[in-house]
Amino acid sequence: MKAVRYHKPKDVRVDDVEEPRIEHPRDAVLRVTSTAICGSDLHVYNGLLPQLREMTLGHEFMGVVEEVGPEVTNLRPGDRIVVPFPMACGRCWYCTNGLPNSCANSNHLHGPEGNVLKGKGAGLFGYTDLYGGKDGGQAEKVRVPFADYGPRKVPDHAKDEQVLFLTDILPTAYEAVRWGKVKEGDTVAVFGCGPVGLLAQRLAKHMGASKVIGVDVQDYRLDMAKRLMGSVTVNADEQDPDDFIRGETEGRGADVCIDAVGMEADRNLLEKVGALVHLQRGTMKVLRHCFGAARRGGRVSIVGVYGVPYDNFPLGQFFDKNLEMKGGQANVHEVVDELMEMVLAGKLRADDIITHVRPLEDAPAMYDIFNRKEDGCVKVVLKP
Ligand code: NAD
Ligand code: ZN
Repeated sequence: MKAVRYHKPKDVRVDDVEEPRIEHPRDAVLRVTSTAICGSDLHVYNGLLPQLREMTLGHEFMGVVEEVGPEVTNLRPGDRIVVPFPMACGRCWYCTNGLPNSCANSNHLHGPEGNVLKGKGAGLFGYTDLYGGKDGGQAEKVRVPFADYGPRKVPDHAKDEQVLFLTDILPTAYEAVRWGKVKEGDTVAVFGCGPVGLLAQRLAKHMGASKVIGVDVQDYRLDMAKRLMGSVTVNADEQDPDDFIRGETEGRGADVCIDAVGMEADRNLLEKVGALVHLQRGTMKVLRHCFGAARRGGRVSIVGVYGVPYDNFPLGQFFDKNLEMKGGQANVHEVVDELMEMVLAGKLRADDIITHVRPLEDAPAMYDIFNRKEDGCVKVVLKP
């Protein structure tokens, strides 16, 4: 079958690989009908998350069940399902305490040690050997472990594009606003107008925010934030976003700042050299802006991915401004049902951010334009 394989940084190919099969009684094999490229895939693509061997990418996917293992009694061949991107067993301490993204049984590097190479959370589909090393869903077929716990059935009348993002970016955006405790009347600043940031802006409005400010460095994405999400926007390359946000909030700063950019924020040469000297991958400049633009006593919520420790973390400012902060991978399993209901009831949509629908064979070119932010690209859906 065809699969999108990571070879080395900036080198992904559509290769012929062996079809997956049931390896464990709780497995299912899924025939993928739609899969998307995520901003998180770019960290692997660009080599910021190291991956030494080839592997199949992709953690946003859905499709039709082909085969199930003997312990998967809730699914049958022919069922259409969406699959949360973290692999969770549903039985360990973390899964039964609302933390499926920290599942103890899906990643051999799972642990409490907390350093860079060990002490990771749950395994993630197609997301390097640090996160379980399991092949992902940018392929004609994929093996889904713990298929009796993760996948959610989709009714026939729902189109793929309508529900595909329940696998990742919609729950992630929802976690971002939930962690930021967004409430009626809040001003919410969202750094990043990529797929995650855009949907976080929409969900912030849903939760009652009276003003939402979108920050990015790409004008075409800021346009989308204005047009589709009704946000006020600022280009961080042209204006200091912290000043702009304070100007929009009577000088106080935003009640909530969301970091939907992460370590791959745009940087100049000086910042790149600085990171090298400090042995850092990427930058935490956007997090620093979040601390700067939040009001005293405000909340900072981080869904943009960070991979290593960083020097000069603004701990003094965090303390002095009395801030709250929470971040991490989204606990998709915990919120997917609520979001599915909203989507199926027509109260929430996410498909309007899709700019490219292409055959799976086009994956290498699509990775390239999504990474370079070319051709107006915001969200790519691939059809195997
Ligand atoms: P994306 O790469 O399309 O979006 C990032 C956006 O940030 C881009 O629009 C880019 O122009 C903008 N940006 C770059 N530098 C900036 C700066 N200095 N200031 C403001 N904006 C800047 O990716 P995405 O799919 O929207 O994902 C965003 C982040 O969320 C990524 O780090 C991704 O890995 C992460 N993510 C996390 C989870 C989770 O569970 N926590 C899930 C999905 C994605
Ligand atoms: Zn993702």
